[in-house]
Amino acid sequence: MAKSEYEYVREQELDDRLPKFNWIVVRINGCDFRRFSEIHGFEKPNDERALNLMNSCAISVLEQFPDIVFAYGFSDEYSKILSLSLSFFTSVYVMKWRNFFPTQELRYPPSFDGKIICYPGLGGKLVRDYLSLRQYYCHINNQKNTCLWMLVKSGKTESEAETSLEGTRESEMNELLFQQFGINYNSLAPMLRKGSSVFRDKVEEIVKLDENGNPVKRTRKKIEVEHCDLTRKDFWREHPDTFPD
Ligand code: ATP
Ligand code: ATP
Ligand code: MG
Ligand code: MG
Repeated sequence: MAKSEYEYVREQELDDRLPKFNWIVVRINGCDFRRFSEIHGFEKPNDERALNLMNSCAISVLEQFPDIVFAYGFSDEYSKILSLSLSFFTSVYVMKWRNFFPTQELRYPPSFDGKIICYPGLGGKLVRDYLSLRQYYCHINNQKNTCLWMLVKSGKTESEAETSLEGTRESEMNELLFQQFGINYNSLAPMLRKGSSVFRDKVEEIVKLDENGNPVKRTRKKIEVEHCDLTRKDFWREHPDTFPD
């Protein structure tokens, strides 16, 4: 087939393959979700319908792409492996919107940005540390937002609340929540404090009962959502299909 005279513009399409022997992290983050969450009446600081929608999108992405080992998310962001997941995540978000917000119409098309990060080496230490850092940010973000929105609910404007929290140290936030609002930070739902981890786990299932009425079991891999502590070394050993080394 003769080449078109316009073919030369393809030379600008650079090779976008990533180097081998890397764990590839794709971080997906809602674009301007401050506005999106306001327009769609998200409860503050944490709308659990919105978090469950994000988790459900992550499950669909893991179902779609078997090479993805692990996904972790909080607020409007999700970290996961492989770049095609970004557009798939976005379209699943739109498709599933009604299941999680049956009475709130989707008022404009949401978008997410994606960022790729490579962690070299066949061992999993760097990815584990990356996920531990995201989980630390989840905690900082949630602790601050919980204080902020409690102050707003008790009569301050958002910017007054921001100002009054300036300079408050991490260690003082729990004290503030307890003294002023009687909230024990550690009693908040694990999903809010720890974020959500999505991964394949071995589960034992009863397939049928044999002729003596005893259960016949089978193990299979199931995609699960947990709100676990990712800084705990044993977590990775207990889940050998992730990055235990
Ligand atoms: P990549 O994932 O690298 O983009 P690709 O297979 O999508 O791979 P492109 O260079 O984007 O490669 O080419 C698009 C392909 O889709 C071509 O094979 C083209 O013939 C086909 N295609 C796209 N749009 C149409 C269309 N409207 N009707 C028929 N074929 C189409
Ligand atoms: P950018 O485009 O730079 O990411 P952004 O407004 O999305 O801008 P982020 O730092 O990603 O900024 O913050 C996410 C915003 O979305 C915060 O304002 C947060 O309160 C809101 N948000 C996200 N998820 C939820 C949720 N489940 N419940 C309530 N608010 C949420
Ligand atoms: Mg965002
Ligand atoms: Mg974000």
